[in-house]
Amino acid sequence: MAHRLLILGGGAGGLELASQFAGHGDIEVTLVDREATHVWKPRLHELAAGTVSTSLSEISFYRLGHLRQFRFEQGSVEALDPERRTVRLAALRDRAAGIEVPPREIGYDGCVVALGGVTADFGVEGVTENAVRLDGKEDADAFRERFVLAMIGARESGRPADVVIVGSGATGTELAAHLRNSERAFFDQNARERETKLLDITILEAGDELMPGASDELRRGLAARLRELDVKVVTNVRVSAVDRDEVRAGGERWPATLTVWAGGLTGSPVLGRLGPFQIDKRGRIVVDETLAAEGVPHVWAMGDATSLTPRGSDKPLPPTAQVASQQADYLAEVLPLTLKGEPVEPFRYRDRGKLVSLARAGAVGSLPVGRKNKLEIDGVAAVAAYNALQRQHQWRVLGPWRGTVAIAADMVSPAKGPALKLHGD
Ligand SMILES: Cc1cc2nc3c(=O)[nH]c(=O)nc-3n(C[C@H](O)[C@H](O)[C@H](O)COP(=O)(O)OP(=O)(O)OC[C@H]3O[C@@H](n4cnc5c(N)ncnc54)[C@H](O)[C@@H]3O)c2cc1C
Repeated sequence: MAHRLLILGGGAGGLELASQFAGHGDIEVTLVDREATHVWKPRLHELAAGTVSTSLSEISFYRLGHLRQFRFEQGSVEALDPERRTVRLAALRDRAAGIEVPPREIGYDGCVVALGGVTADFGVEGVTENAVRLDGKEDADAFRERFVLAMIGARESGRPADVVIVGSGATGTELAAHLRNSERAFFDQNARERETKLLDITILEAGDELMPGASDELRRGLAARLRELDVKVVTNVRVSAVDRDEVRAGGERWPATLTVWAGGLTGSPVLGRLGPFQIDKRGRIVVDETLAAEGVPHVWAMGDATSLTPRGSDKPLPPTAQVASQQADYLAEVLPLTLKGEPVEPFRYRDRGKLVSLARAGAVGSLPVGRKNKLEIDGVAAVAAYNALQRQHQWRVLGPWRGTVAIAADMVSPAKGPALKLHGD
């Protein structure tokens, strides 16, 4: 009889894993996600800035299930019972239409938790009410709508809108560059030639340098690009509160028409109440070197939902699509063996480097060469390397033929570029 593999979460990692079992007769895959469509998270800032339309980056899980031979079950995961090997999905309700679906239970032989993470507010006052966090498509849509209003307001009043981005990691810096790109959609041709500015962008960083953790060369390249884009970066700022129209840090204040909170990541809030998991201080499930959840048999976890500190390292792997994707490959290889009770090799992460894409200002990056050295790249090579991660995702999820068509469409589509997509399609 086929093994029932249940994958919770169809994001960068979970969907790649589900897609890799197509045609694998011994394993029957069910994928659960609360959304009906998959959006690849590393592109959320482009959706937020309106530099890419949702038609290019959103795919129906139902359609994918048909193409890649997995069953898709839409619903919000609430609880996992390791004794009965079941997962409960919350009830669904549409009061206006009078439709109600009671909670559902799905059984499994093996279960992989890939429920991702959310941006932490670190308890700072006003973040939830007054800032946008880019955790999902609805956040990107909400931001884009406000951004459009702010830009129209700026054009009409002649006073630039203030965008404050808290956090100078990849999300914050890439978003800043894409917003600058979108600004052009609001100029008429004559104003564009006069170089009017509709947007003042400031990035506030708590650390004493831009993008903490990046190499010095990468940071220098990034700083130069942000200067070119007229994006101001202020370091050593510990934000204490976010109000409707300003961001405060002690006695200092920054006017903010729009605030984006792009601080660190914690595990999805559901992880803490899902089951008897060991949870680290960032709310993520602790796993061993085979990605098995500590103390919970027949359950594995991957991607942003996990805390895995590799042997010889003193910190857990970073929450990136690069890690999630490598873990998906690993689990696709070892789960068929594990489910048959065979021993497997541990997961080994290979750092493929750090790349930041800044819209029309190009990309900068730092790639590992051998064990110790790093190669700093920019220009065409960096843009190509940056795009490679998404190309790989599209191939894995859609298969070689459809993946190639999707990539080609992506490259030539008029739905991509500086013109803002007001309605996301
Ligand atoms: C703007 C931005 C830019 C980024 N750029 C890069 C980059 O350049 N390179 C890189 O490597 N990484 C990048 N990242 C990080 C990367 O997106 C994440 O590390 C990656 O998506 C993690 O994959 P995952 O599968 O663990 O989780 P996710 O991709 O977050 O997927 C989680 C899935 O679980 C679903 N889900 C959550 N809770 C529930 C629930 N209770 N019930 C049912 N379903 C649920 C969600 O709908 C989602 O589909 C970026 C992130 C952002 C926000």
